[in-house]
Amino acid sequence: MFEQFKSLFSNDIGIDLGTANSLVYVRDRGIVLREPSVVAIQAGTTNVLAVGEEAKRMLGRTPGNIVAIRPMKDGVIADFEICEKMLRYFIQRVHQRRFAKPRMVICVPSGITGVEQRAVMEAAEYAGARKAYIIEEPMAAAIGAGLPVSEPSGSLIVDIGGGTTEVAVISLGGIVIARSIRIGGDEMDQDIVTFARREYNLFLGERTAEDIKIAIASAYPGEWDAQRVVLRGRDLLTGLPRSVEVGADQIREAIEPSVQQIVDTIKDTIEETPPELVADIMDQGIVLAGGGALLIGLDRRVAEATQMPVHIAEDPLTCVCRGTGMVLEDLDVMERTLVAETYSRPPR
Ligand code: ADP
Ligand code: MG
Repeated sequence: MFEQFKSLFSNDIGIDLGTANSLVYVRDRGIVLREPSVVAIQAGTTNVLAVGEEAKRMLGRTPGNIVAIRPMKDGVIADFEICEKMLRYFIQRVHQRRFAKPRMVICVPSGITGVEQRAVMEAAEYAGARKAYIIEEPMAAAIGAGLPVSEPSGSLIVDIGGGTTEVAVISLGGIVIARSIRIGGDEMDQDIVTFARREYNLFLGERTAEDIKIAIASAYPGEWDAQRVVLRGRDLLTGLPRSVEVGADQIREAIEPSVQQIVDTIKDTIEETPPELVADIMDQGIVLAGGGALLIGLDRRVAEATQMPVHIAEDPLTCVCRGTGMVLEDLDVMERTLVAETYSRPPR
């Protein structure tokens, strides 16, 4: 009875504030919101016109008086005010009972600074949180992927998002080694835009490039190379619409520079990892999460480069959010510990 009463008032919220997509988890309900991290505003102001899917459709299609912004694009907060508005919008969408103040766990890219982390917490409190906690993306991803993060055993998680790739070795509940690069799915889209311009004088939009990547890009040769796709864009010489048919192998070559950098970062991280932990990772395998984990053949490519087994997390696009949700379900335990610590501290 009391439990029921309590959950009525405190539906704690977990948020994965990603560079490409934001997801919201509500305690006892699961993932309730999934939207692109895009905000459309009126040019020269901070008036929000649309957020999420609706705003993403406007990217590259806006008239002069509307701008579509991705406030977290490169894994840092590009525009704080817009980011705060986006966060508030997501919270308000899922949190109908204004009088009940939930606790929030917010997952942010590990590249954002301490000042920005505090700012995100403040924004969450401003948007109605009783208390806000920050969790770093690789940790949430590892928890979501079911890795034994609190055990004295090394786990290697690679989270490939839109703007960043984060690689981390986790053991005993902490991050032992972490690397973050500003290369992710967006950079691959850009590679495809560059390829079309260089090879065919064809100007492609980023959204089109992303669709092509999702449809046929790969990181390893295979039977998928036989596929072909039509690129639709604008001819840079005539200014007129034109389409060109290309092979999947060409798209693989186009995104290769980004793939190589991701693979190199994983290798560098392993080189820095203490040998005992490397042995654990060897046993357990490297785990890939984030939308980039869905790139065809990336698992094989990483396995070949590192000589280690590689697994793709279950539903890589929701992995971080599910991890945040699992932390949320444990928050009572965590909070109790925190309070107990305060009480046991001797008076000054
Ligand atoms: P973030 O956590 O940074 O918001 P996500 O984990 O949501 O990022 O991943 C988004 C990225 O994954 C985008 O660049 C998107 O194009 C890419 N992506 C999604 N599905 C696929 C796919 N099937 N193959 C390759 N890339 C994909
Ligand atoms: Mg992410």
